[in-house]
Amino acid sequence: MTTIDNTADVPASRTGDESGAPLLDVRDLHVEFHTREGVVKAVNGVNYSVGAGETLAVLGESGSGKSVTAQAIMGILDMPPGKIPHGEIRFRGQDMLAMSNEERRKIRGRKIAMIFQDALSALNPVVSVGTQLGEMFRVHEGLSKKEARAKSIELMDRVRIPAAKERVGDYPHQFSGGMRQRIMIAMAMALEPELIIADEPTTALDVTVQAQIMELLAELQRELNMGLILITHDLGVVADVADKIAVMYAGRIVETAPVHDIYKAPAHPYTRGLLDSIPRLDQKGQELYAIKGLPPNLLKIPAGCAFNPRCPKAQDICRTEEPPLLQVTGRDGGELPGRGSACHFWKETLHA
Ligand code: ADP
Ligand code: MG
Repeated sequence: MTTIDNTADVPASRTGDESGAPLLDVRDLHVEFHTREGVVKAVNGVNYSVGAGETLAVLGESGSGKSVTAQAIMGILDMPPGKIPHGEIRFRGQDMLAMSNEERRKIRGRKIAMIFQDALSALNPVVSVGTQLGEMFRVHEGLSKKEARAKSIELMDRVRIPAAKERVGDYPHQFSGGMRQRIMIAMAMALEPELIIADEPTTALDVTVQAQIMELLAELQRELNMGLILITHDLGVVADVADKIAVMYAGRIVETAPVHDIYKAPAHPYTRGLLDSIPRLDQKGQELYAIKGLPPNLLKIPAGCAFNPRCPKAQDICRTEEPPLLQVTGRDGGELPGRGSACHFWKETLHA
């Protein structure tokens, strides 16, 4: 049995780099917060990678360490209390954690951009959206005010904000939630980054708008051949846009798979539980399944498998031995590409 530490095999064509290194490669990342109550172990050995033109969906309940991982990549962790005791964050093969601040700045913001859930708090309320968008070009590309304004209109058009020319001087609160999220996407895209991290970009929006924003993101990503990390707690939104998926629990990746495989046959009881919790139209009126219990307190993560207190399949070994992320195999014994599970009894779930 081999241990794997990658979310999925990255085909060479996807690396966007002759060296063969993926665009972003996170290796054994640990993040902790030193608080008065103790050490919060938010990220505990995460490995994932994303290639150019590829979408990785990172899934998990609230508090599983998805955002903290993203903040570490973007260099926006609160340090202190945050600390990265171990790990590598490689962008095109270079470890950003080992770079000078200067080198790091060139990558973050320009080559890697982020989209947040809450556009209203990410935008400046007293500056027009045109000025905020234009600022990107003025600061990073030295454009004149007039040139920057033209670029802002072009960007607003590109993210399909109606009447961009007339609305370029409007303030954030004058736009609907969906339109504001389009402005956030425009901001992130302004400098044509190679990688976008979208942290629950549609969570605050209603379902129809969610789908439109997701479609827009996917379309722009294809056009620009960007890598995309899509963070979400909603398995329902990823099926159409993601290539591969990493499921997080208590700061660890517990399952990885090409996206469609996971819907067909998950290999971890936690993923099974998440799938069973998706509301389905044909089950209207029936009680919705919910995983019992709550995510663990990260000040005191359970011994063994962190999911064991909530797991319907837990046995003695689950309470003592932490399962590594293992390569999973099909019924015929052949390795399933890109598929891993951190469950001692993955076979029982996968081959159920
Ligand atoms: P999510 O998967 O919902 O995005 P997060 O990555 O935001 O989860 O959080 C992971 C854990 O880290 C949570 O338990 C959270 O309370 C903790 N955490 C995040 N930021 C801080 C901080 N600045 N200080 C202390 N704990 C933090
Ligand atoms: Mg989060």
